[in-house]
Amino acid sequence: MGTSIAYHLAAAGVRDVVLVERDELASGSTSKAAGGVRAQFSDELNIHLGARSLEAFGRFQEEIGYDIGLHRVGYLFLLSTPEEVASFEESVRLQNSLGVPSRMITPKEARKLSPLISIDGLLAAAYSPDDGHCTPEAVVHGYASAARALGVRILRHTEVTGIELHGSTITAVSTTLGRIATGTVICAAGPWSRAVGAMAGVELPVVPLRRQIAVTEPVKGLSADLPMTIDFTTSLYFHAEGPGLLLGMSDPGERPGFATDPHDRWIPALYAAMERRAPALLDLRRTGGWAGLYEITPDHNALIGEARSVSRFLYATGFSGHGFLQGPAVGEVVRDLCLGRVPFVDVSPLSADRFAADAPRPEANLV
Ligand SMILES: Cc1cc2nc3c(=O)[nH]c(=O)nc-3n(C[C@H](O)[C@H](O)[C@H](O)COP(=O)(O)OP(=O)(O)OC[C@H]3O[C@@H](n4cnc5c(N)ncnc54)[C@H](O)[C@@H]3O)c2cc1C
Repeated sequence: MGTSIAYHLAAAGVRDVVLVERDELASGSTSKAAGGVRAQFSDELNIHLGARSLEAFGRFQEEIGYDIGLHRVGYLFLLSTPEEVASFEESVRLQNSLGVPSRMITPKEARKLSPLISIDGLLAAAYSPDDGHCTPEAVVHGYASAARALGVRILRHTEVTGIELHGSTITAVSTTLGRIATGTVICAAGPWSRAVGAMAGVELPVVPLRRQIAVTEPVKGLSADLPMTIDFTTSLYFHAEGPGLLLGMSDPGERPGFATDPHDRWIPALYAAMERRAPALLDLRRTGGWAGLYEITPDHNALIGEARSVSRFLYATGFSGHGFLQGPAVGEVVRDLCLGRVPFVDVSPLSADRFAADAPRPEANLV
């Protein structure tokens, strides 16, 4: 988010953008993501943000000059209950009305696309060939490099420690490298956004939650076209990662917190899900993995907007597990909010004020 917003601002002619990162670029959640990019959502806003970002990922190499390892192999959601099927049918109708080429398919068609699955008990699947996956760090470094070339100053290993206010007006940001005079702050601090918001007295309800990924040994005969495959009932997902697979699943036993050390408590549930939906995966040796943080909000949808109580404190955070794929579009939107332009889509329903106004914006199609 930070590098995308900085790039989009600089490309629009803003000449005094400073990006402050306390660690290395892409050291937060982004480098831990599975890299899935999609427009298959239930919420109209997420469909718009996903589809717009897919377009940007598609022209990234040409526009930004970086190979991001984009594989347009599609997302395949496997559905095992009548409720899931009904909900996805409704989402597919909405997606189609917005130009997304998703469709419902039969279990047999699903197995043809993703041969490692079992279709026992499967009722249907939802598939969109435009979706896929790419390499998160490459996207961050691409945007950072393009932003730098346009004059953005990127301060690494520099922590934001405070935000100075005069009344409700921002006057400066304090960092471990010194004070930066500014009237505008954009918070894109991922799972750590609540603390950055609090520096300005702005409530950003973002909670960190550890999620884990495993990678496997090379898979014989693995198709380069294997879609990102998700068993929606258990949340088990996998896609090709080099010659092997990258696998993930939510862990209901996980409690909120900033810990990112990997552990094996989730493995029995992972193997149970494989046994049920993709037994072929049980034969694969796990060769590694990692843990990162989802940045969860109460309705599992993003917070994008400008604070009401503090002038020119903008935020783009709380993406609840689908933030990497929205980076390009949100960069455009936040640029426009910052410059007082009308964004390509009205994101006001994603304001952090929605919880106080009792107007949540739930997203149903979560991985
Ligand atoms: C296992 C896993 C799998 C995922 N898979 C996907 C996926 O397939 N597709 C998808 O779209 N999303 C996925 N996500 C979610 C995605 O990673 C996030 O939504 C997204 O990366 C959020 O990006 P961000 O820029 O908001 O936050 P981050 O990438 O966390 O960036 C925030 C940055 O702020 C910095 N920072 C924090 N506080 C300060 C401070 N005080 N001063 C200076 N710097 C500070 C941090 O160091 C960090 O680099 C996944 C996440 C995980 C953990």
